Amino acid sequence: MNFVEVVGIQVDTRHFIGGERIASTETFTNTSPIDGSFLGEISRGGTAEVDLAVTAARNAFPAWAAMGPAKRGALLLKLAELVEANIENLAQLETMDNGSLLRSHRRGVMPRVAMNIRFFAEWAINELKHEVFETRGHSNNISWDPSGVAALITPWNAPLMLATWKVGPALAAGDTVVLKPAEWTPLSASFFADLTVKAGIPAGVFNVVQGFGREAGAALTAHPGISRISFTGSVPTAKVIAHAAADNLTPCSFELGGKSPLLVFDNADLDLAAELAVEQYDNAGQVCLSGTRILVHESVADVFAEKFRDRAAKLTQGDPRDPETDIGPQIHQTHFDRVKGFVDRAKTDGQSIVMGGEPNSELGGLYFKPTLVKNPAPGSEIVTAEVFGPVLCMQTFTSDEQALEMANGTEFGLAAVVVSGSRAHADRITKDLVAGTIWVNCFFVRDLRAPFGGSKKSGVGREGGNWSFDFYADVKNTVISPNGWKE
Ligand code: ADP
Repeated sequence: MNFVEVVGIQVDTRHFIGGERIASTETFTNTSPIDGSFLGEISRGGTAEVDLAVTAARNAFPAWAAMGPAKRGALLLKLAELVEANIENLAQLETMDNGSLLRSHRRGVMPRVAMNIRFFAEWAINELKHEVFETRGHSNNISWDPSGVAALITPWNAPLMLATWKVGPALAAGDTVVLKPAEWTPLSASFFADLTVKAGIPAGVFNVVQGFGREAGAALTAHPGISRISFTGSVPTAKVIAHAAADNLTPCSFELGGKSPLLVFDNADLDLAAELAVEQYDNAGQVCLSGTRILVHESVADVFAEKFRDRAAKLTQGDPRDPETDIGPQIHQTHFDRVKGFVDRAKTDGQSIVMGGEPNSELGGLYFKPTLVKNPAPGSEIVTAEVFGPVLCMQTFTSDEQALEMANGTEFGLAAVVVSGSRAHADRITKDLVAGTIWVNCFFVRDLRAPFGGSKKSGVGREGGNWSFDFYADVKNTVISPNGWKE
């Protein structure tokens, strides 16, 4: 069986290499987090499949690179249109595979997938330039040359969104791609591969190898034939990849975890603050950017906590296909057990769990209740480690200095949310926060032109706008003298 049918949509279970479907003799089982139902047996790639894919991508590279941004762009715009025409299919498929809300996939995520492709194609055509500047009459001319084969390793929490955030700029830059999607969510990448064929993207330009991180992922990141590695996932895996990349000195871009602060100051609009805090349960807490440490000024903590409780009590947990649902399941039994383990240990440690703190027994399966830990002991596991589930901590502070010290006091620096009633005050706070992205009185507003990435252990490098091309391309400076010309 080379195909599975999920919600009436046919998906190929084989790898996509050099424009062809290639099966492995070994497979892995894919199930839905919604109800544990069987979705399919997926080809499980390793060294041999990775080698084939990198070779196919290398062979396709010269012609793709030589096409230039405009011709590549025309094909990529066609691909974006095909994604748009398939939003419903992709939304249904992704929800079955990763358990995120169907309404979010329809309204926000899948349109964004199309934008990821379109935006970078257009950026390469229209915006990718620097001012030409002069040095003693010589001009400096900067160009972004295609670099080769980009190896893209992506996670399961927003599979196609995060994959195309890399695929878009890599292909627009003239690189060819080998994508290794997460083993818990392989389906949308396979469906997307079919769309690249329909868009007329030449064989070998875009390849997908499915499989486990320690097999397919490890083989891909250690491969001498790749020119770039872009990875989104956990800190421990990033360290393994950095080691794998070291022998070939392959440049890496890492977008990793977080334990981001959400700061509520005493001058804040507390209704807005409570609304933003409850949003941190989005995607059942499986969001690297989540502000999972709520830090509140002591003088407003009780009022804020009441507003938070009122709003959180209205959250509906259930089947992600139901439009009334706000919180779905965790992705997989292994991850569910991990999240539960954090909460169980916090209980054993004597931490005060004032909301949730257990699986949702009415729903069973992988549904874990939205949870709040109040005043966790400083330095304890629950307030320092990334749980990646619906688990928030709430702590208080009494001064801006203390707030900043607490906010910056982790190994992470991905994001921060600041809720303040004064612009001057917010400016002082954001200046001293260490984070790749800070949202003031808002959350999750993202522009593809802006740099995105993490400070400290939350990442290496930035992507978005020119930053993406600075990574995927070979940036070149050609210095031209005013002298020596004969014509
Ligand atoms: P999580 O533990 O939350 O699943 P990971 O960072 O382990 O997060 O997984 C993100 C992606 O990294 C997945 O596609 C996974 O297969 C891949 N991965 C895991 N281990 C490795 C590895 N050693 N080398 C390359 N990729 C890996």
